[in-house]
Amino acid sequence: MQHFPIYLNLANRHVLLAGSGEVALAKLRLLARTPARVTLFAPEPEAALAAFATDVGAKLLPRALQAQDLQDAALVYAATADAQEDARIAGLARAAGALLNIVDNLDGSDFITPAIVDRAPVTVAIGTEGAAPVLARAIKTDLENRLPEGLGTLARAGKLFRHAAEALPYGRPRRDFWAEYYFRTGPQVLDAAGSELLDHALEALLQAHLAREPGAGRVDLVGAGPGAADLMTLRARKLLDQADVVIHDGLVPQGILELARREAEFIPVGKQGFGPSTPQDEIIRLMITHAQAGARVVRLKGGDPAIFGRLDEETEALSAAGIDWAVTPGITAASAAAASIGASLTRRGRNQALHLLTAQDVDGLAEQDWKTLALPDSVAAVYMGKRAARFLQGRLLMHGADPATPVTVVANASRPDQRILPLTLESLAVDMAETAVEGPAILLLGLAPAAACAELPQLLAELG
Ligand code: SAH
Repeated sequence: MQHFPIYLNLANRHVLLAGSGEVALAKLRLLARTPARVTLFAPEPEAALAAFATDVGAKLLPRALQAQDLQDAALVYAATADAQEDARIAGLARAAGALLNIVDNLDGSDFITPAIVDRAPVTVAIGTEGAAPVLARAIKTDLENRLPEGLGTLARAGKLFRHAAEALPYGRPRRDFWAEYYFRTGPQVLDAAGSELLDHALEALLQAHLAREPGAGRVDLVGAGPGAADLMTLRARKLLDQADVVIHDGLVPQGILELARREAEFIPVGKQGFGPSTPQDEIIRLMITHAQAGARVVRLKGGDPAIFGRLDEETEALSAAGIDWAVTPGITAASAAAASIGASLTRRGRNQALHLLTAQDVDGLAEQDWKTLALPDSVAAVYMGKRAARFLQGRLLMHGADPATPVTVVANASRPDQRILPLTLESLAVDMAETAVEGPAILLLGLAPAAACAELPQLLAELG
């Protein structure tokens, strides 16, 4: 970050703009939205520029900028379309210690003007340090479409109400109040009744929040999906963003945890990988104590919380403790893995049922309905199956499965280090033993990668 973004207060400040043409006009349009005093140095101003300067009350001097003009200048824009003249102005500005921008001359400038999305007091500045102006404009267009027109109005009314809102305790109660104003009540009132009623709405909302029972915490049991942040649901992201405490599995990657607020408390309770695992009782105790202390707790689980996630144990304990809870689903590993190999988990005329199995049970390797699973065309996704390959293979062959049955192992599905091993039942155990598969892996029994898809993820994984 060679260019450090800051917001400069231009109230009562003097800005000098040198130039007579369209480029100067574009800058003047921007500056006119600020409270700065602007002096325009234009020896031969184009008509549109002169007219606009008069309109917005900028001072127009029909001469070149001189050293004495710089006395109280905060910013200087050189937009004369004459490299020599721009350089002369740059020399004067530097000597006077004013910050300088030469339009379209990154190297010669002290500062650059970003692309701006203006919903003042909410403003977004987009800069690429000159690398990709096209990109900056595209981002600006995208944000212009996404940020409602009324955002500035909401923020102005909100700003005036900040002091009153301090009647609410600092932290969660105050954050809840503002979240409800900006994302629900505010936009609704603005839409239905216009800005005049915003004050009234804020006051009513404040009274409602002041009357709320303090300390009503809750727990959301949220599916984080298979690992890629953009495979989370919008609801999961929103809950994560509002969480005070995040109790997460080892399966949840850092990229997803970073979506939570920085001040949130993170408690890893990984039961996977190399870290120490937290006993289930302890996880439940943590959820309950934090929720009882008034926190919004997100219990974040890999994939879908309702699939091999011990969900019921946790929700039953929460109910017993009288704590509000809700479940937010996620994309389970089987879905992510099937997507990665471009295959369908069910197919007309092939399999009418899909089995989701765990290879591990409380007592070790899990027994299954092997007879059904060994039938031709049966499809199963085997969770936690990495170390059970030999067991699965033995049981299935014993029950008459075809040794040529495809078994595709997908490790780290949807993540940059995803690996796809297209194997068969016959060689499964040997191949798995020979290939060190790192990270969580799922076995798709009865499925082979779609031809076109087989190489690509592998290639991407190797490149990435
Ligand atoms: N609730 C999770 C499953 C938890 S059990 C879900 O719905 O996906 C843990 C097992 O899930 C792992 O042993 C592995 O078999 C599987 N798994 C989870 N994430 C995975 C991923 N990104 N790629 C492959 N397998 C995954």
